[in-house]
Amino acid sequence: MCKTVYLSLGSNMGAKITNIKNAVEAIGAIEGIRVIKTSSLYATEPWGKKDQEGFINAAVEIVTSLTPGQLLERLQEIEIKMGRQPSEKWGPRIIDIDILLFGDEVLESRKLTVPHPHMRNRLFVLIPLEEINSAIRFPDDGMDIKEVLARVIDREGNQGITKI
Ligand code: ADP
Ligand code: MG
Repeated sequence: MCKTVYLSLGSNMGAKITNIKNAVEAIGAIEGIRVIKTSSLYATEPWGKKDQEGFINAAVEIVTSLTPGQLLERLQEIEIKMGRQPSEKWGPRIIDIDILLFGDEVLESRKLTVPHPHMRNRLFVLIPLEEINSAIRFPDDGMDIKEVLARVIDREGNQGITKI
């Protein structure tokens, strides 16, 4: 059975825009995945670890017949193939691909947590996600993406995010 899944992509090394585009193409080429929608690209300030280059971020909607574990493995293979080196938490990377939402599943293991644990506080995730589907509800607490987004903007302004 196919599930609708939302991914977050980020790059802050090398040809960032090309990296995002190549990653979307590689995701679409995986057997068992169809890319439905890609958001605009957003230039964003680094989050968490501030002393590094800015990021380009985007969100992607896919449908997939893969299990969450299989999907994570395939995405990590793309990260490695594109040259991502193991590095510090939240440090610079050629490509980062995170699973935001996997259908209405709520999962928590060492390898995979969905909804993604930090997504509710990160505008570089919420803004592109809301752009591709403004009707999303979080499967764990039923919150509406527009509500979550408005709260973060209220609290923190727009966190230096520009559509490009
Ligand atoms: P981050 O994305 O937080 O900067 P990494 O990309 O290096 O860090 O991922 C670290 C680990 O996070 C991965 O090895 C993966 O097993 C785990 N992980 C947990 N939940 C998720 C998720 N929803 N999407 C992607 N990775 C996840
Ligand atoms: Mg990641």
